Amino acid sequence: MVVKKMFGKVIYKENLSEETWLLGIELPEVAIFVPGQFVSLKVSEEGLRRSYSVASLPGKKMIELVINVSPMGLGSKYILGIKVGDSVEVLGFLGKFVVDVKELTGEKELLFVGTGTGMVPLKPMIEDLLINKKFHGRINLIWGMRYETDLFWVAELDKLQREYDNFCMEITLSRPGERWPGVQGHVGDVIGDLRIEGNKTIAFLCGNSEMIMEINDLLTNKGVPKRQILYERFA
Ligand SMILES: Cc1cc2nc3c(=O)[nH]c(=O)nc-3n(C[C@H](O)[C@H](O)[C@H](O)COP(=O)(O)OP(=O)(O)OC[C@H]3O[C@@H](n4cnc5c(N)ncnc54)[C@H](O)[C@@H]3O)c2cc1C
Repeated sequence: MVVKKMFGKVIYKENLSEETWLLGIELPEVAIFVPGQFVSLKVSEEGLRRSYSVASLPGKKMIELVINVSPMGLGSKYILGIKVGDSVEVLGFLGKFVVDVKELTGEKELLFVGTGTGMVPLKPMIEDLLINKKFHGRINLIWGMRYETDLFWVAELDKLQREYDNFCMEITLSRPGERWPGVQGHVGDVIGDLRIEGNKTIAFLCGNSEMIMEINDLLTNKGVPKRQILYERFA
């Protein structure tokens, strides 16, 4: 796949949670990429860039990005300042954090683990498997966040869970409020309790380095071969 520099236009910008923004970017051509890939967005006049996973599915003349601005560095400030109608420069599509359909033979079970906006590439990967690829094997998603107010996409993920029997998700909050009805803790706590058949499992981890190292060790101890654990580090 050829990596191209593309000039797009911001066609919508929405606040998804306290510090998370959704950007819709119209492109000059149909976006051809594999769900899980990312773009490199130019965030300064000097040409400095930040990587952002594509949050939408391929095949449209636009992409969506979902960005948490809490780091408040150059990229975050650029995103906060961006307005509908602005031009943006993206380089894409990049990365190897994708599902290899050749691996989906036999009785494979897929485990997706994300923390924070590490969820961003996971949603289109799962949608592509369920909706486009008609994958019938088990898909588990574990999403870790701090607070309830950080969450987004919950209704969409719930809908997928209702529509597809083979898809199951668990959201776990490390610092929930008193009324949070769901699981409390870190993603590792949920995985610790999960029945995992090592050889059958292919895992996709996305988020910060500490989480990736911890879950990688946990899954290896549960018998998942290293080559069946893929990850994307956000920081
Ligand atoms: C392949 C890839 C895909 C990514 N996809 C997304 C995405 O879809 N959505 C998204 O919001 N981010 C994503 N990121 C992270 C993003 O590229 C930036 O690193 C992040 O938004 C911080 O950029 P910044 O310029 O605001 O902060 P910087 O100026 O880079 O850093 C400011 C401070 O924040 C810390 N920091 C850097 N990154 C993070 C982080 N992710 N979380 C917490 N603290 C951080 C730094 O250590 C530093 O102290 C992705 C990163 C990679 C490598």
